[in-house]
Amino acid sequence: MTSVETPMVRADRVCKSFGAVKVLKGISLEVGRGQVTCLIGPSGSGKSTFLRCINHLERVDAGRLYVDGDLVGYVERGSKLYELHPRAAAKQRRDIGMVFQHFNLFPHRTVLENVIEAPILVKKLKRDEAVEKARDLLARVGLADKVDAYPAQLSGGQQQRVAIARALAMDPKLMLFDEPTSALDPELVGEVLAVMRDLADGGMTMVVVTHEMGFAREVADQLVFMDGGVVVEAGDPRQVLADPKESRTREFLSRLL
Ligand code: ADP
Ligand code: MG
Repeated sequence: MTSVETPMVRADRVCKSFGAVKVLKGISLEVGRGQVTCLIGPSGSGKSTFLRCINHLERVDAGRLYVDGDLVGYVERGSKLYELHPRAAAKQRRDIGMVFQHFNLFPHRTVLENVIEAPILVKKLKRDEAVEKARDLLARVGLADKVDAYPAQLSGGQQQRVAIARALAMDPKLMLFDEPTSALDPELVGEVLAVMRDLADGGMTMVVVTHEMGFAREVADQLVFMDGGVVVEAGDPRQVLADPKESRTREFLSRLL
């Protein structure tokens, strides 16, 4: 059952281990519709793993993870969980866009071909429609003149904007960003953050792992600090940044400056 009140993401004591290593130790958080949540925390704290669980790239071991009211990867009958049929899982996943630190574009395809691929293959869009939509999206991320370029001919910032357009071409209801600017030269960070801010202003629900505190302060509705596989502190970004409640948050933030 979904309604406007259902959060877009709800994690309830989500746990994930790799072998004997517990990486997520009971993550609970909510991301409201149209809201931006920034996830911060030291390397190894489980941020990527959490995003990957949302996007079906990892399987949750315990706890419940919901996107748009639907349990991710499982169906619940009574108190028991059953794995979703792969087709149903793929359908869930289709509605979630993800952008990685390393843009993962197809190197031997043009920008336009990169963007139209999934809509044609997965959404069964007609090529003409997919092309028209891709051109619109590429214009929106400021790359109208690069449709026929190959990824290697673009700067890192331009490639990342293509990756964002490619994710948007699937009409996601949720966008996940895993350190989208960490691999970029400093002078290229701003153009990618500007595109993300524009998306947020347009009402997209976003979960963003980032160390760009200016972006978090100005764009995020919620800032979540993770450490050691738990949420240490979460709240209004301005409040958390200006006056962290937990000493671990304070220490982490002081090391960033
Ligand atoms: P973060 O994104 O916060 O840096 P990660 O979620 O990438 O943290 O990793 C958290 C921990 O989980 C790390 O110790 C990492 O080595 C471990 N880990 C992540 N993915 C795997 C995997 N596929 N197999 C084994 N260990 C993993
Ligand atoms: Mg990571």
